[in-house]
Amino acid sequence: MDDNLPLICEYYSHLERQGPGSPEVTIKALSFIDNLNEKSRIADVGCGSGGQTMVLANNTRGNITGIDLFPIFIDLFNDNVEKRQLQNRVQGIVGSMENLPFAEEELDLIWSEGAIYNMGFECGLNEWRKFLKIGGYVAVSEASWFTEERPTEVEEFWKDAYPEMDTIPHKVAQMQKAGYIPVATFILPENCWTEHFYEPQVSVEKSFLEKYAGDKAAEEFIKSQRHETQLYYKYKEYYGYAFYIGKKL
Ligand code: SAM
Repeated sequence: MDDNLPLICEYYSHLERQGPGSPEVTIKALSFIDNLNEKSRIADVGCGSGGQTMVLANNTRGNITGIDLFPIFIDLFNDNVEKRQLQNRVQGIVGSMENLPFAEEELDLIWSEGAIYNMGFECGLNEWRKFLKIGGYVAVSEASWFTEERPTEVEEFWKDAYPEMDTIPHKVAQMQKAGYIPVATFILPENCWTEHFYEPQVSVEKSFLEKYAGDKAAEEFIKSQRHETQLYYKYKEYYGYAFYIGKKL
């Protein structure tokens, strides 16, 4: 386990979202999914503190379980649930996406924004399929290349950070191979990265550096965050997040 994980989790706990996305995009992805009702069972895998889960909850009527590996996020998630008085149908639990606590064919929808990469897109789609009812949906957002070729600097960065990053047609083919009908794919608009993810980090970075002044690990972490942000602004026409929505055959 990475020694810096507690530090990284603390940093992200100060943000409403832990990855790129927006309420509008969550609602757009949801618009491709039919047959949900008050009996539906939904899982939000790698939910973080639940920014997108609360949007899901406001736009569906079923029962939602948010799952994340880190208790700090699940505590915040459940505070969010209480604030919105959603306890009767939304709950956050600590658990791993690699060992989901559901029965086979229990779920109508598996949601996961910016998290499936932790076990790999293909592996996650294959592993999670058994938990879905026939006709159930998976909806995941995932870092993707927009072009076949890209500058070495950004290619090398992502090869190291996420070797499975691939182009949208390849990801769609992987979804089909894993036993889903690819229903929809769309690219997240830039404001999911800028307005909803990087801009809120400016003040969090500042207070984090003040709190951990002189702490090498914290300073290195912020440096790497800034590097990743700069790469995004420089190369955003080559990559971004795409949503992939599939229906279990
Ligand atoms: N879905 C949230 C969002 O869009 O704001 C969080 C996205 S964040 C980039 C990835 C999330 O996956 C983090 O909350 C992290 O704690 C969680 N995570 C990492 N490994 C995990 C695992 N093995 N099982 C469950 N969650 C995991």
